[in-house]
Amino acid sequence: MILVSACLLGRKCRYDGNNHQDQSLKELLRGQKIHPICPELAGGLPIPRPPAEIKGGDGDDVLTGQARVVNRDNEDVTVYFIEGSRKTLQGIDPEQIEMAILKARSPSCGVGEIYSGAFNGQLKAGSGVTAAYFKRKGIAVYTEEELDKIKQILRDK
Ligand code: SF4
Repeated sequence: MILVSACLLGRKCRYDGNNHQDQSLKELLRGQKIHPICPELAGGLPIPRPPAEIKGGDGDDVLTGQARVVNRDNEDVTVYFIEGSRKTLQGIDPEQIEMAILKARSPSCGVGEIYSGAFNGQLKAGSGVTAAYFKRKGIAVYTEEELDKIKQILRDK
């Protein structure tokens, strides 16, 4: 089973009610067992919602209580992000998960690079809350920008 950010598959679950549909990714995954996830919805946030970024660290720091997720209205939404990361794996046998393909740069799903926390379009090193949680669980995480790598993994299995 491959976990995939639902917005990449066309679900309109982004903060602004849009999606990030990625046709190349969808074609690459044709015939695979995929399980769409949206941690922000799973955590209880609505559509639409104000955009959020991680302040004071990255997703790992959020999981250890050293950083917060704050939305553009300056509301602390950390609890939703942590809850969402856990709920996405509920009822799934970890042994069945081959990998997760997650939306690049999102405060939930970003892998290795996320927005800075200043809502200025700048990036910083680090992963989103759910990507960090998945890594802690031993799940291999990739973004939709690593199609060649994903293709190779699927070819080799
Ligand atoms: S939480 Fe992840 S799956 Fe949901 S809209 Fe944001 S990037 Fe997409």
